[in-house]
Amino acid sequence: MKDDKLRELKEKIEDAEYVLLGVGEDFQYDWNELIEDKRYQEIEKEIGDKEAYIWIVPFLQKMILEQSREDKWKKAYRQLSSLVAGKNYFIVSLCMDDYIFDTGMDERRIVTPCGGFRKMQCNHNCSHTVSDIPLDSYRSVLQYYNKELSLQDMQEPHCEICGAALRFNQLGVDKYAEEGYMEQWNAYTKWLQGTLNKKLCVLELGVGMEYPTIIRFPFEKIVFYNQKAHIYRVHPLLYQLGEEIADRGCGIRENPIEFLCRFEGI
Ligand SMILES: [Zn+2]
Repeated sequence: MKDDKLRELKEKIEDAEYVLLGVGEDFQYDWNELIEDKRYQEIEKEIGDKEAYIWIVPFLQKMILEQSREDKWKKAYRQLSSLVAGKNYFIVSLCMDDYIFDTGMDERRIVTPCGGFRKMQCNHNCSHTVSDIPLDSYRSVLQYYNKELSLQDMQEPHCEICGAALRFNQLGVDKYAEEGYMEQWNAYTKWLQGTLNKKLCVLELGVGMEYPTIIRFPFEKIVFYNQKAHIYRVHPLLYQLGEEIADRGCGIRENPIEFLCRFEGI
């Protein structure tokens, strides 16, 4: 029964002129590998509640993300990538782990409005720009992780203009620099205009109610207004579709990562 849904979705995607993908908070990496890492546990203890060193943690998250490995996220993204290969697609993702940029999918077809680990910004967003990762800071964190430097040697990077702390460009900073994703957001809205009255297949993967105005509500609206659109909503709990679009859609009650992994061999 469940595999029938996979086949149906695959056919719908093959048949569609446009494919719109929404990747939600249920897809976010859980950091387990970092949390279970012995050296990381030591570091957490050493930093404790010393605020001057808390900036080190996201750099360690970036370090873990950059280590190549095989896990369920990699596998799921690989399936997603092959599902849309050769199609005219666009992906909106709420994840902040940058996994999606390591899957061979076209970066020009991806927007991540919550940010991630690829750019930094001033915590106060004084200049309305994002900047590259300061390599010496990153390098010193790696040396500290490898016990080649001590905690006291760690220097937090600061904004060159106002002196505030530099932070990764992601939701959670004092003033989030939306400039980091605007260009891709504009590309997305332009792409969307092209889907009007075209055969559009919409696939939502683990999109809940954390930021419903980014994916969930607008996607429903897109499907409502485009009579040739179909929507597949995969979510372990919030898989239901409103009755206005229920006849052109399907809610699938499943964990989205497991759902994608099942495509192997279909
Ligand atoms: Zn600044």
